[in-house]
Amino acid sequence: MTCRISFIVLYGLVALCQAEDHLPQPHYHRQPSDPAWLVAVVQFHGHLGPSVVAGARMGMIGLRAVEAKGYFDVDVTCEGPLAKPPQACFLDGIQVATGATLGKRTLRWVQADQLTVRIRNTRTGKAAVLRPTPALMGLLASLKLQPMAGTDHATGQNEEELEAIARKIATMPEPEVASVVTQEANTPTREFFSTRQGSKITLHPTPASFDVPETMLDWFAQFKNNLHLSRDELAKVKDGAGEWDTEYGLVCNATFPFDRCCAHVGEEGWGRDAVSFADLQVRVYVLDKKLDDVGREIAGKAAAKVKDVTKASAKVTTDNADPWKRWDFAYDRWYEDYGATAHVDFRAKQFDNPTLVFVFMYTNYQTQEAKIQAMLKSFVWGEPPGTTATQRQPEKK
Ligand SMILES: [Zn+2]
Repeated sequence: MTCRISFIVLYGLVALCQAEDHLPQPHYHRQPSDPAWLVAVVQFHGHLGPSVVAGARMGMIGLRAVEAKGYFDVDVTCEGPLAKPPQACFLDGIQVATGATLGKRTLRWVQADQLTVRIRNTRTGKAAVLRPTPALMGLLASLKLQPMAGTDHATGQNEEELEAIARKIATMPEPEVASVVTQEANTPTREFFSTRQGSKITLHPTPASFDVPETMLDWFAQFKNNLHLSRDELAKVKDGAGEWDTEYGLVCNATFPFDRCCAHVGEEGWGRDAVSFADLQVRVYVLDKKLDDVGREIAGKAAAKVKDVTKASAKVTTDNADPWKRWDFAYDRWYEDYGATAHVDFRAKQFDNPTLVFVFMYTNYQTQEAKIQAMLKSFVWGEPPGTTATQRQPEKK
């Protein structure tokens, strides 16, 4: 008896050792005409869907546009409605096609209305921005008309329709897939960004600077996710994600073009990195406009966006006090079981040519006025000591 049990145990062990490792079998009706890359995409993702194929096509086009080999010389940021499948399947296609992946921390995504892929060759700095064509968006949108819409991971008759759309996307001529704008690394562009020395933030291309409060430096020392100064860092915080920051982002972006935002600093992370609503978030814009025109834009566009977002008019407080003119938009918000009054508080001042605008975003959870005043008082228009006028944008870390 003992002998027999030992035999069974031994046999079982041998059988276990002999079990072969294998990858999962995707849901896929492979056709002889399917190119090898498509098979690899399906192996990774699990089915032949339109979104994942669109991601793969745009990834391959982007990789060529920045002349990268893929895997270790690319950095990709995808903007779009990518919170859930089927749209989010796009990100899997991008990963297979570029080798920029979640695991390597070289792929990021940001929630936005429009699908945009930003790819950068980290070796040469060459960058490209890809946007899907109306033809591609049309094919992706045709999904939503299907009865099993919302899953993209349907089976049965729906699956064949999905595969047909996916194959169409796989074989579309390249110009019909995406529009590509490339930027050479050494192209001199008048970029708006900032640099930091200690607490001092210099707003390029101006000589202006201001100091961030201790609270921000303390957070940065620990978490490194709250001072967004280079264009790459700024691109990641254009939109908020989740409750308060989403709305702050919407109001800011409706009022001013984001490429004029030189710095975004906060007492904690932004969007998905946010931890509470008790903090202060700040954007600084440099605008080639007169203060009166900026004021009209704030009064019109910011007010309209708050109303659009909250379905109620904001309580507006204005103050013409020198030197910083103020427009504060306050609105009440409730999330789950907590509520507060949110403030999007603009402070603007015209210098020789540009007008500088600080946007302070906070709730009434705690008063931020002392910190705001300290930041505005620290503001100087001029060369801060110890820096050079030709300071270049630092390499992304
Ligand atoms: Zn999918």
